[in-house]
Amino acid sequence: MDVTTELYPRERVGLIRDAVAAADLDAVLLTPGPDLRYATGYDAHQLERLTCLAVPAAGEPFLVVPRLELPAAQASPAGALDLELVAWDETDDPYALVAARLPARPARVGVADRMWAVMALRFRAALPGAEQVAAGAVLRTLRMRKSPAELDALREAGAAIDRVHRRVPGLLKAGRTEREVGRDVHDAILEEGHAAVDFVIVGSGPNGANPHAELSDRVIAEGEPVVVDIGGTMPSGYCSDSTRNYCVGEPPAEYRAYFDVLREAQRVSCEAVRPGVTPEAVDAAGRDVIAAAGYGEYFVHRTGHGIGLESHEEPYIVAGNTEPLEEGMAFSVEPGIYPGAHGARIEDIVLCTADGVESVNRTPHDLVIIG
Ligand code: ZN
Ligand code: ZN
Ligand code: ZN
Repeated sequence: MDVTTELYPRERVGLIRDAVAAADLDAVLLTPGPDLRYATGYDAHQLERLTCLAVPAAGEPFLVVPRLELPAAQASPAGALDLELVAWDETDDPYALVAARLPARPARVGVADRMWAVMALRFRAALPGAEQVAAGAVLRTLRMRKSPAELDALREAGAAIDRVHRRVPGLLKAGRTEREVGRDVHDAILEEGHAAVDFVIVGSGPNGANPHAELSDRVIAEGEPVVVDIGGTMPSGYCSDSTRNYCVGEPPAEYRAYFDVLREAQRVSCEAVRPGVTPEAVDAAGRDVIAAAGYGEYFVHRTGHGIGLESHEEPYIVAGNTEPLEEGMAFSVEPGIYPGAHGARIEDIVLCTADGVESVNRTPHDLVIIG
């Protein structure tokens, strides 16, 4: 079996059909995006022309594609599945085509979470009696529990972003702007094997206290901590995401004090991960460490998010999420402390294993002092 078949196995559409039936839906309709790729391996373009995988609870699944896209669909892993490809021509109504092939008068259909609203509305018109629900609720159980091949893809993504972090000390210099460093990091993400760059955060000084800082023209100064949070998508479709902290020269003493607390909090949250533990317990484990040290008010976000074909997906590691972790789940553990003049975050992608946890990111958590 080649890598693609392992990542996108033939039986997956059948598993989705079982989930559709179990959820008491008549069908799911998956337009280009992570759900379609998960189902078939087809990384289709989002176009105004409809591409849609229909998976009825009873009956055969089929993939409707614009005639112009048929060669791409056939060449993709979807072409090797037991899946009828239905090409439509420029003057056809592809929504009517889908409706005509579905079992008569469906009562409830799932539409892909990322389906464009214009398409959902066209389906509403083509399937007048059908209540529309989010297909993500049907696919989430499958997508959250990664297969061995998916876990390998995440390990590969983790190793690639680790190689980028190892290059960051050579790119960060006092006097350079965040944007200049960010451009080099962007190139490094591609050079180290990603197919696309998803985000590059280079947060220096006060910008490091903004968890979602945009690259700016701020000049990085000696003695300023810098938060570098980067991620991309691998050719496999699977994503990387890792945060490390750097400083050109020596950081302020108060930074050292909370950075050590953060390291401990991140370690404690990771150690809490194992099957049966709730995401909120993983969140609380590290949050308690930060709160006990007096920095609780500066940890302003959840501990983490799931990752796979999307860089943010379920499960979310947050207070209130009591759905126990299971073997095969993959998510970030990324506590942060953001007092204002500077900030820090440490982020690894971890896998919940049969009896504990494995981190796909292996670079040291220490503050990296440059120069
Ligand atoms: Zn984020
Ligand atoms: Zn991140
Ligand atoms: Zn993240």
